[in-house]
Amino acid sequence: MDDGRLEVYKGYRAQHNTALGPAKGGIRFHQNVNMDEVKTLSFWMTFKCAILNLPYGGGKGGVIVEPRNLSRRELESLSRGYIQKIAPIIGEYVDILAPDVNTDSRIMGWMMDEYSKSFGRLASGVITGKPKTIGGSAGRGSATGRGVMFTVREAFKKLGLNANQTTAAVQGFGNVGSFTAKLLYDIGVTIVAVSDVHGAIYKADGFNPYAVEEYIKDKGSVMGFPGTSSMSNAELLELPVTVLAPCALESQITGDNADRIKARIIAEGANGPTTPAADEVLANRGVMIIPDVLANAGGVTVSYFEWVQNLYRYYWTEKEVHARQEEMMVEAFEKVYETSKKYQSTLRVAAYIVALERLTEAMKLRGWY
Ligand code: GLU
Repeated sequence: MDDGRLEVYKGYRAQHNTALGPAKGGIRFHQNVNMDEVKTLSFWMTFKCAILNLPYGGGKGGVIVEPRNLSRRELESLSRGYIQKIAPIIGEYVDILAPDVNTDSRIMGWMMDEYSKSFGRLASGVITGKPKTIGGSAGRGSATGRGVMFTVREAFKKLGLNANQTTAAVQGFGNVGSFTAKLLYDIGVTIVAVSDVHGAIYKADGFNPYAVEEYIKDKGSVMGFPGTSSMSNAELLELPVTVLAPCALESQITGDNADRIKARIIAEGANGPTTPAADEVLANRGVMIIPDVLANAGGVTVSYFEWVQNLYRYYWTEKEVHARQEEMMVEAFEKVYETSKKYQSTLRVAAYIVALERLTEAMKLRGWY
């Protein structure tokens, strides 16, 4: 630590099924990280990658820490220390890391550097979500929110909705939530509520999320944005909107509040925001849930593009990245949607069917039985 004290932090890395390719997934810095959570998140990565047809298995890591309590230098030594410990089990063709809750491109840069030092040469493909100058991909920053927008836009088509006549509430205004709000706004959706850890802001006839972003730069929170009233994160979830996009942490929509959810579509920007009990209640009520493994798969899709660019040292334009992401996500949405019609199932069950078909085929072909 800056004052010379030694602090010990506990961290994890989980690798799930790797039948389709090397493990892939983010690292989160959060005080509630634990082994079960990291394992579950790595399992979701396996399914997410299979649904998007990416040549990856599932991985996830985390460190138990409240990063806001660390200085810049302490954060850097923690990031490097974590990589020193897991370096033997990761690699460009083994397990590829990325950002997740409370980790960003700056941290990915330190981690890539630390791994490259231990490896003895530049290994930019060991981690995605890096700053552009050191191998990051154009379009990675907005990729997860952009993917949420693509899947919501496709859902509107299926339900015969016109974006200009819809409203959305977005929980969380970090990387995923802020881009989700801005990109939904760009296609004509009225954004009526957004939130952060301090609470939510609401305005029935909508506001401009780009202006909220500017406001945060100055004030540090969405709270108090001119013209809005404040409410709790729990109240935001129950607003009468077309789209509810939970883009923060898991287990937000539960058996306790599922009955009170009024949205027509839930787009899971976060991983695991809806519990199984809530899933059942919402399915019975006909709410369309675009599951996390599809809705938030834009991040890992552009991570895949970044890795490909790193391996062949040739970089694409932002326009190319957006176009390829759109193509892959629309295709995945269609596949999941058709599967849900075929099996008369929810989109979540259909997404798992799509993934399991690919995974079992790969495992059989590789002789993993
Ligand atoms: N952490 C993100 C996720 O949960 C991105 C993972 C990646 O890009 O590898 O999908």
